[in-house]
Amino acid sequence: MAWYYVNDNAQPNGDHEVHVYGCSWLALVVNKTYLGDYTSCSPAVTKARTIYSQCNGCFYCSNACHTS
Ligand SMILES: [Zn+2]
Repeated sequence: MAWYYVNDNAQPNGDHEVHVYGCSWLALVVNKTYLGDYTSCSPAVTKARTIYSQCNGCFYCSNACHTS
């Protein structure tokens, strides 16, 4: 299990990135929302989409959920 967070600030393309606690990119995120404790990024991204319509997995820590 891992703690997942979503960046409250969108990327330039509008995506709100989902990160695992401990990701070095998450450390750079100023405002984030805790999503929950999950075994994979998939349910975390689903949860994030209930908050922000446009979400994407982090390329580095949640690559399985990263698109485009
Ligand atoms: Zn990440």
